[in-house]
Amino acid sequence: TGTVETLEFQSEARQLLQLMIHSIYSNKDIFLRELVSNASDALDKLRLETYRDKDLRAETENLHIEILLDSEARTLTVRDNGIGMSRDDVVNLIGTIAKSGTADFLRKLKESKESAGQDLIGQFGVGFYSSFMVADKVTLETRRAGTDEGVRWESSGEGTYTIESLADAPQGTSVTLHLKPADDEDHLYDYTSPWKVREIVKRYSDFITWPVQMAKEGTATEEEDDAGGLETVNSMKALWARSKDEVSDEEYHEFYKHISHDWTDPLETVRMQAEGTFEYQALLFLPSRAPVDLFMRDAKRGVQLYVKRVFIMDDCEALMPNYLRFVKGVVDAADLSLNVSREILQQDRQIRAIRRRLEKKILSTVKTMMTEEAEKYATFWQEFGRAVKEGLIDDPENREQILEISSFDSTNHADKPTSLRDYVSRMKDGQEHIYYLTGESRTVIENSPHLEAFRAKGYEVLILTDPVDEMWTESASGFDGKTFQSIAKGEVDLGDETSEEKKAEYEDLLKWMSATLTDTVKEVRLSSRLTTSPSCIVGDAGDLTPTLEKMYRAMGQ
Ligand code: ADP
Ligand code: MG
Repeated sequence: TGTVETLEFQSEARQLLQLMIHSIYSNKDIFLRELVSNASDALDKLRLETYRDKDLRAETENLHIEILLDSEARTLTVRDNGIGMSRDDVVNLIGTIAKSGTADFLRKLKESKESAGQDLIGQFGVGFYSSFMVADKVTLETRRAGTDEGVRWESSGEGTYTIESLADAPQGTSVTLHLKPADDEDHLYDYTSPWKVREIVKRYSDFITWPVQMAKEGTATEEEDDAGGLETVNSMKALWARSKDEVSDEEYHEFYKHISHDWTDPLETVRMQAEGTFEYQALLFLPSRAPVDLFMRDAKRGVQLYVKRVFIMDDCEALMPNYLRFVKGVVDAADLSLNVSREILQQDRQIRAIRRRLEKKILSTVKTMMTEEAEKYATFWQEFGRAVKEGLIDDPENREQILEISSFDSTNHADKPTSLRDYVSRMKDGQEHIYYLTGESRTVIENSPHLEAFRAKGYEVLILTDPVDEMWTESASGFDGKTFQSIAKGEVDLGDETSEEKKAEYEDLLKWMSATLTDTVKEVRLSSRLTTSPSCIVGDAGDLTPTLEKMYRAMGQ
């Protein structure tokens, strides 16, 4: 054991810890789910490491998770013999929050009211730090597999932590919580009670694929610390391999939370099974909220890949198109090699086939939701619509289906978006196109003179305000045989030609205006699109919209 160093938490980490200590989250039991989940990840990582690096000097016997309780010392310890952490790992992973979107999250939290805090925490997930909801001191001891030096980390969560080397630490990590006094009012249970802890493990971590072991009921914890004195608490059954009606919604939800690191129930659970030449099972989830990093460049995307129940990789982007990057879940493929790499996956024909099937399944699930569970669909669209619309550009092959599940603001209703199907069903006799106008906001669009004639005729116009709308409308040909038509571009034929008489009447004025404005506009013409405004500016059919022009300029093009 070396010298003890005292280090400071990074400021974001400090703020999160304060939140945990003065816990705003009422369900404190979930600290155990987080610790077991980390231990399970550490065992997965060890197994992967040993596949990749045959020379790694790691112990791979008897891989498991263990929970030790000591009611006298009032401690609870979660121990694993997984990958472990080096000193640098501990400083970087435990003393710092590297998660993208942390600053954003903390800002939102500050601005939010008390009651919204819980929701936000749920969206963010605080992992290891949740220990401080129930403990006033946490000790972590760890040794990275294949290395000799262990590390002890300790903190009460108040600004600083200590770190020192350990001479003979076992491989893996043990986290010991020095529990706060039990307190019924504060929903704090006695977490040294074996039955309570067992119950929590069963509830939240039953599907974990590694054994979670505890002292056999009726035996002393420390003395009989051998396999004989221990028993496995969880069933370890892979949920996707069990038959559908054997698994409860709650089990699915807990599994979702484990793989997504989200604290909120998913919106929808999707199961798939394919037999035959290429066998696979998939268990997918649509989250109920968009992650804070949905539109960030380094955001995680894709689902987990397993091969015959063995975890292979997280964030397998080859299995999900980018516009569905928020979909979480597991794909278990039977015929892949265990040491398959990301590069190989990108080119694998079978993987591409699975990805097409998953994509179709997600689209059809959302479509069903749209017709059968309107409210759920509305939530989905509110959270993920902006991402889904990227698919209209990225994936021309499925454009029609993506349009089918999309909704858009429109002049039909002030705050209820419409599907294109519904739009088409409301089209007036003689209306040939699906009309839309893009712009910065609903207010800006509603005040646009372009809208006047359409209002007068009772034609509905889609109000498109997302940047991505500028892009897909450029390339989408149409929906249900009707083409999209911007009302700000080209000559819009509303059926009532300006008469020859009128043209003659205004000829001189138009000539004069064209000459005077020659440096600014291409042409000045009479139009049927205005009813009260005297004039408006119209783009050519092939022109960029003002917003798109602004975007390109901002990108320096
Ligand atoms: P998350 O699990 O979402 O990444 P956590 O706060 O739960 O966030 O954990 C932070 C990081 O600390 C993990 O990503 C992992 O690298 C490391 N870590 C935590 N617990 C363990 C453990 N038991 N073994 C190895 N590494 C761990
Ligand atoms: Mg975690």
